[in-house]
Amino acid sequence: MDYEGVIGLEIHAQLLTESKLFCRCPAKFGAEPNSLTCPVCLGLPGVLPVLNEKVLEFAVKTALALGCRINDGSRFARKNYFYPDLPKGYQISQFEEPLAVKGHLELDTDNGRKRIGIVRVHMEEDAGKLLHPETSDYSLVDLNRATVPLLEIVSEPDLRSPEEAAEFMKKLRSILQYLEVCDGNMEQGSLRCDANVSVRPVGEQGLGTKTELKNMNSFRHVERALAYEIKRHIKVLESGGRVIQETRLWDESEGMTLSMRGKEGAHDYRYFPEPDLPPLVVSEEFVQRVRAQLPELPDAKKGRFIQQYGIPAYDAGVLTSSRELADYYEQTVGLFPEAKTVSNWIMVELLGLLKKYNKEVASSPVSVARLATVLKMVADKAISAASAKEVIEAVVTTDRDPGDIVQEKGLKQVSDPEEVKCLIEAVLAQYPDEVQAYKGGKAKLFGFFIGEVMKGSKGKANPKVVNELLKKVLSQD
Ligand code: ADP
Ligand code: ZN
Ligand code: MG
Repeated sequence: MDYEGVIGLEIHAQLLTESKLFCRCPAKFGAEPNSLTCPVCLGLPGVLPVLNEKVLEFAVKTALALGCRINDGSRFARKNYFYPDLPKGYQISQFEEPLAVKGHLELDTDNGRKRIGIVRVHMEEDAGKLLHPETSDYSLVDLNRATVPLLEIVSEPDLRSPEEAAEFMKKLRSILQYLEVCDGNMEQGSLRCDANVSVRPVGEQGLGTKTELKNMNSFRHVERALAYEIKRHIKVLESGGRVIQETRLWDESEGMTLSMRGKEGAHDYRYFPEPDLPPLVVSEEFVQRVRAQLPELPDAKKGRFIQQYGIPAYDAGVLTSSRELADYYEQTVGLFPEAKTVSNWIMVELLGLLKKYNKEVASSPVSVARLATVLKMVADKAISAASAKEVIEAVVTTDRDPGDIVQEKGLKQVSDPEEVKCLIEAVLAQYPDEVQAYKGGKAKLFGFFIGEVMKGSKGKANPKVVNELLKKVLSQD
């Protein structure tokens, strides 16, 4: 029997606000443990939470970008559970009346566009963090993260493969980054993913029993964990067993998932409305104000790039994957208006080099002006394409101007016909027998002459000029 995977993701995105969700403490990563706390986020008795309006703005922005309906009334709720990183004994979240519902996100797949439903977007507070020092028999609690604002974004079970799930994550991350509401850093945990997965026979409409996977902090882990889990489910079913609904942890070093706990139901959390916060009423006016601030989003930008610059969809997809890269591309085209050439150099050379040297496009030494300068030199035949690659790499590593590098490395291309002619004549004088053979019909020798001329010029002769002049000289007398 053929099975298909069914996947729904629950994403937690840490919001880039200055302060926390319900108090004025800075929502910063990496500070001295417990230095960013106050009675509110420590959960001391008698204090009252106050909603950070910036969080609401970021949440509405995200919900609108995902095409959600914003509920005009929503509520905070207490999700009760005990854990040492949660001093209040409950997390303030949203449950029955979330901020926004019924959105979607579009993916470009091999079979065309695919629409993935978004069930809901809601706000909640983060918990603190437990640290387990090696070689000690105790744990430490850092509450800097307590009450840091999170958005929970829940997808419909519309994803059908681990690859699609990773694509969904990437697209969502790109949108969050375009909106500047989340930095999207999975290693540092500012973007987290719980993956729900089940399998069913192909053609079946109902859903199989799912398991929930946690502890995946990169796109690759998400893909690997899901692939493993889908195989596991199929094996269980094919051997006549039943999948148990539970939460499982991905163990990256072992390459497998491990049972963590049985699935808890909503009733286990004793949800009830948060009595210290009034019902949240989001006015139409507020929503309109946020809507007016929405930037051009990845899909729209991609469509515009295809239209305006006449580049292939693939190029447009890569170039709009981040706002910084898209801006970089557009500014470079502004200085060097050959859209496809610019796209090729950025996608093939620049991105490769930035990866190799671990640099970001917006802050790398290859500024827009410097890249445009190099491309102009190639277009003017001042340097060869091969030299241009060398120059760009040297710009990345030394942060100097391309002109200086070309000078210093002596990369200036020889295009002057007189100079090239001298080089050609020297080679032909050196190989009189080959010249005879060529003229006698051994046309293959042409490539040999080209090679020798290039060698003679130490690679600096302009190949096009060499080609043209060589033909001319050899056809004379
Ligand atoms: P729970 O009550 O366990 O939290 P929800 O219905 O709220 O389950 O869904 C949580 C997530 O799990 C959503 O992303 C949803 O798309 C996904 N999901 C629900 N049922 C399944 C299933 N049978 N297989 C795969 N994913 C599922
Ligand atoms: Zn605080
Ligand atoms: Mg649920």
